[in-house]
Amino acid sequence: MKYKILTLFPDMIEQGLSSSIIGKAREKNLINIETINIRDFAFNKHKQVDDYPYGGGAGMVMQPEPIYEACKSIMEDEQNKPRVIYLTPQGKTFNQEMAMELSQEEELVFLCGHYEGVDERVIDMVVTDEVSIGDYVLTGGELAVMVMIDAISRLIPNVLSNDTSAETETFDDNLLEYPQYTRPAVFMDKKVPDVLLSGHHKNIENWRREQSLVRTYNKRPDLLDKANLSDKDKKFLETLINKQ
Ligand code: SAM
Repeated sequence: MKYKILTLFPDMIEQGLSSSIIGKAREKNLINIETINIRDFAFNKHKQVDDYPYGGGAGMVMQPEPIYEACKSIMEDEQNKPRVIYLTPQGKTFNQEMAMELSQEEELVFLCGHYEGVDERVIDMVVTDEVSIGDYVLTGGELAVMVMIDAISRLIPNVLSNDTSAETETFDDNLLEYPQYTRPAVFMDKKVPDVLLSGHHKNIENWRREQSLVRTYNKRPDLLDKANLSDKDKKFLETLINKQ
């Protein structure tokens, strides 16, 4: 996977995406992250890339020319044009399903806005997708793109050391993951559930499934409508509801 990020703050991206699992994935060339500084494509000698909004109002708007030229510079040798994602609070909300879908692409281009946002004309000209990371407003798209790249990259084969760990976790199948425990078996008088120490794989699997259902029912009941539930799961949920 190649990520190309059009930004005014390439250092921020470099610092945020160079350690831990993503840093290692870069070292192993499983993912490639390139930042393109939009300011390098500024037209004027002061390297200014923003201007006052037509019609008045607060703040500054990112001008279309530097963004257009920055985008053109990375598209020129491309045979298959990659998707260009503009990070914006007005976009479709990012979620695990979208992360999964985007992880199938070979290359993604991200456009980070700043100030009051980006001149609408260049959005119309170069952007294929508009994505938000949630219903709140950030100062720029850099943190948003880092969130997206982290979530997408861990779904790429071999980025996580154990490939299955991305398959049995929260949001897989629209259920929250069961509780996890590690050593010691007793911590300040609190014991790990006996079933996890039993070594009985079938019982552990059943317990985990039930815990996933309990958690999802208690914390995110909205997900249950979309979850793929067996008859056994539905019966278990009924008993849960009847208990209350
Ligand atoms: N004036 C814009 C509006 O009301 O839609 C908000 C601009 S915001 C202050 C500056 C930039 O931060 C945006 O262009 C976008 O790239 C980024 N941004 C802010 N909130 C975001 C969010 N929730 N998701 C993704 N990007 C966001």
